[in-house]
Amino acid sequence: MATVKYHKGDMVMGRWPGSNLYYELKVLGFEAKSQLYTVIYKDGTELELKEQDMKSSQDFQPRSRSRSRSPGRRRSRSRSPARTTRRSSSRTAGAATKENDSLSARKNLKLKEMVEVRLTPMSESAKAENISNNRNEKKEENNTSNKVNGSKAKMEPERNQTRYNLRRRKTEGDGKHEPVDNTKVVSTPAVTVSTPLDFGGKLGAYFWLLFLPSWVLFVILQVNLHDPSLANFPPPIPTLEDLWDSRALGFVILWILFQVLLYILPVGKLSEGMPLRSGETLKYRTNGFFAIVMSAAVVVAAIHLGADLTYIHSHFLQLAVATFLISILLSIYLYIRSCYASPDQQALGGSSGNVIYDFFKGHELNPRIKNFDLKFFCEMRPGLIGWCLINFAFALAEMKQQKLAYPSEAMILVNVFQLLYVVDGLWNEEAILTTMDLMHDGFGFMLAFGDLVWVPFTYTLQAFYLVSHRNALSPPAVAAIVLLKLIGFYIFRKSNSEKNAFRRNPSDPKLAHLKIIPTATGKSLLVSGWWGIVRHPNYLGDLLMALAWSIPCGFSHLLPWYYMIYFIILLVHRDSRDMSNCRRKYGSAWDEYCRTVRYRIIPRVY
Ligand code: NDP
Repeated sequence: MATVKYHKGDMVMGRWPGSNLYYELKVLGFEAKSQLYTVIYKDGTELELKEQDMKSSQDFQPRSRSRSRSPGRRRSRSRSPARTTRRSSSRTAGAATKENDSLSARKNLKLKEMVEVRLTPMSESAKAENISNNRNEKKEENNTSNKVNGSKAKMEPERNQTRYNLRRRKTEGDGKHEPVDNTKVVSTPAVTVSTPLDFGGKLGAYFWLLFLPSWVLFVILQVNLHDPSLANFPPPIPTLEDLWDSRALGFVILWILFQVLLYILPVGKLSEGMPLRSGETLKYRTNGFFAIVMSAAVVVAAIHLGADLTYIHSHFLQLAVATFLISILLSIYLYIRSCYASPDQQALGGSSGNVIYDFFKGHELNPRIKNFDLKFFCEMRPGLIGWCLINFAFALAEMKQQKLAYPSEAMILVNVFQLLYVVDGLWNEEAILTTMDLMHDGFGFMLAFGDLVWVPFTYTLQAFYLVSHRNALSPPAVAAIVLLKLIGFYIFRKSNSEKNAFRRNPSDPKLAHLKIIPTATGKSLLVSGWWGIVRHPNYLGDLLMALAWSIPCGFSHLLPWYYMIYFIILLVHRDSRDMSNCRRKYGSAWDEYCRTVRYRIIPRVY
């Protein structure tokens, strides 16, 4: 592009990702290298858009002057550019110019108002006024939302007891983006949308692609050492034989196919995911609990028939390498198919245009083969249930190696705690549909490797360590660790369930006591209850549980504490990723939330 068409501060219309609807926005800048404009919609959502997805405000017909906002009326009164030309041609040039001037003045005022919309704590009088406005507007919001997005869950009712509200334009009603009919744009080129790059950007993607598999290799080799302390770093380099065993590959394939079979069986609930950008919702077979029960039954039957599960311990490295190979093949498949995905199906975060970054981060949001959802399956089944299977195999290996009649207390605690974590996740499987991974992250190497390799082969490190490193625990120590685990679990479960219930049904009477902050997207944010204590109470619970998993391994080595250290880094980074995503999504409403709920994960600390 030789010249830059729009400049910083320009008010123009921009296409909303995955739709043909245009909204007013302000240009924040232009990057010559990527040829992308950074823009901000009136609700504070920041995106990068191509020039072809932006249009001058003059290309759009102004909306009806009427204050009535019935969608039916609005639709009939909003006009296409073609109609504008016809009408203006039947008038005198002077009259047309005068009207255009006045429309343009009104439009400029309107744009200014929209950009200046700010979330402000309200005075009692303003609140009363707003509540009454909202009552009138609410119905229209819902109509508009259903018409525009075709999504029933997009709008959330407002609550009178809420201290916060969006200051809305009275003449225009709600604080949402006002779509402008643009019949000129019927079929348009694919929208390229992207959010700022995570994980160190393009260079970071190269780094993680190399680092993550190397790290898994390192921790497995290190934990195999008699003394896995850092003084014995680096562990001996493995031979090809140590790395590869065709039988191990066969077992991994068999395990995945078995989980596929359980997933596709018409058993269990069909749950609805959150509305996508297109307004569509996907259905998921949430029969994870059934899958783990069936898996346990098959494992018990296999042991009964003479299968030796300690094979998993003695061939752990080969099993990890085989699974790594599968995750690479899956990621390549995911990347290739994502190149053919429609813009609606692309993840905002994995559409940088850089092959390596998009391969790593995941380009397609919900890749499916017919109704088989690859991301959901990998997140919840082979790796997660495999984690419990491996832990159980390590308990058997400990008994064999240390000639014990029963596993040690530490091994029992680690096994039971982590089993509880997985069973809880599968019992509440529906809750994953409102998490970042499912809603926002594309499915690429990061999640495929994370779900299939990272979880089962590094989260099991504590049990692996205990196989040959006994750590005796006194009964009071056991009681204290159990208490810690229960507290963590309570916080984790309650907070996750509260947010999930709210996202699924914002008008749930059980949540009526909670305060909310409405946002310009139509969704609201919880500002009391668990989500009023810290911004990520679920992370706090998760971290307490991680602590309870690590203490049983004692303090002689750093390696069994690896999960705790990694998890702190992961959740702190995840929290900051979520903060920037929510800031982009919710704009000033998010700022208000952050001002009200000051701490991120640990009250008064962080
Ligand atoms: P969350 O479940 O916390 O989801 C974050 C999303 O919740 C936000 O993007 C936003 O989405 C919504 N949200 C944020 N604040 C509010 C609010 N105040 N009111 C209403 N909605 C809000 O994040 P994760 O997906 O990261 O975590 C899910 C669980 O999984 C956590 O318990 C975490 O600890 C656990 N986890 C465990 C891992 C492990 O390896 N063991 C790894 C990663 C996570 P929107 O507004 O769009 O709905």
